[in-house]
Amino acid sequence: MPFTANRAFKRAPRLIASAEGLHYRDDVGRIVLDGIAGLWCCNAGHNRAPIVAAIREQAGRLDYAPPFQFGHGPAFALAARVAALAPPGLDHVFLCNSGSEAVDTALKIALAYRHARGEGGRTRFIGRERGYHGVGFGGISVGGLPNNRSVFGHGLSGIDHLPHTYDRARQAFTIGEPEWGAHLADELERIVALHDAATIAAVIVEPMAGSTGVLPPPRGYLRRLRDICDRHGLLLIFDEVITGFGRLGYAFAAERYGVTPDMICFAKGVTSGAVPLGGVIVASSIHEQLMRGPEQAIELFHGYTYSGHPLACAAGLAALDLYRDEGLFERARAMEPVFAEAVMRLRGAPNVLDIRTVGLAAGIDLAPDPAGQGARGFAVMERAFHDHDLVVRVSGDTLALSPPLTIGADDISTLVERLDRAIQAAA
Ligand code: PMP
Repeated sequence: MPFTANRAFKRAPRLIASAEGLHYRDDVGRIVLDGIAGLWCCNAGHNRAPIVAAIREQAGRLDYAPPFQFGHGPAFALAARVAALAPPGLDHVFLCNSGSEAVDTALKIALAYRHARGEGGRTRFIGRERGYHGVGFGGISVGGLPNNRSVFGHGLSGIDHLPHTYDRARQAFTIGEPEWGAHLADELERIVALHDAATIAAVIVEPMAGSTGVLPPPRGYLRRLRDICDRHGLLLIFDEVITGFGRLGYAFAAERYGVTPDMICFAKGVTSGAVPLGGVIVASSIHEQLMRGPEQAIELFHGYTYSGHPLACAAGLAALDLYRDEGLFERARAMEPVFAEAVMRLRGAPNVLDIRTVGLAAGIDLAPDPAGQGARGFAVMERAFHDHDLVVRVSGDTLALSPPLTIGADDISTLVERLDRAIQAAA
């Protein structure tokens, strides 16, 4: 099982049988509240009828078409719809199947762009500590999670990491963007000075680090990164696999923070989790550079058998319709203060060291149990599911919440009450 303690799972399996809206039903019929929207992906809630119908209809019409040398309507329609949600200037889309593929695709596009410009020496990438960019070799290399890297060899060469932006002493219990930490972007200047900009292809960050604990960017940090990238001609890639499609109350975090990157990686929420799909939105300047060679040349020698799979694209189009028709991004924005106030009620619960909230996402740090790192977080997650009818995400001793964007004030209260009881029980 992926990222799961297999032997512990066998002792007390957590099995899910079906889902609807904000809830799962487990294998014995218990209704369980989904506090993490699948895995940060089911932003419109589960098993939404229009998405189910669109997948069914598409499966009956065109199950598959080869994406190499052939195309089909839903892929182009989806690409256009995604690009329309992105900041101006980001208007071309490459489709793949997951966040990990989106990250590796973006890194390869950056290298292909450098090559096309006669800048083949610009091959370095700069990621960030506590960055999560999926599990491909590119992603674990630019990512900053020791556990994801330590037993898998060297990864890509030529990677540096910015410092992460979290400092509990200065930021504890922050709602939204911390005031402290924008200056940490200046570390990019130091790395550029060390290597010379002429060796660096791109910088990649999550605008808000999600999987490593919900770490919102300090106020002004992303703008400073953008300015430094501009000064040295570095491409800036935002990995919006979690923040895309409404998690922070906007189509993309780029819009919330008013900073436009050169590429955006997306996945998860694009189909509301119903069918695997990911992609990269690319600035027109990058696209145009790749189109400058001879007409018969292949501009980007990269692709997947399931790039733009018809079922995924149909699910994506239906999900984007739902987000628009139900105003779910605006709704998330409106619910943000309600969510923040409710989650902050856990301040003072046993072992809670810090709580961070932004949009409809929250990270809750617990004091490690003497039994070992991660033991307390795991115990809360297990108790929440088995005894308190709640699914939360845990990574080490940090709990994460990111409910479907359809959640209302009552269910937010229920979520927090159940989590409170699970934390109390685990203590
Ligand atoms: N990037 C980010 C920011 C993510 O949060 C994730 C998944 N949590 C990924 C990439 C990888 O996505 P996937 O699991 O679909 O490969």
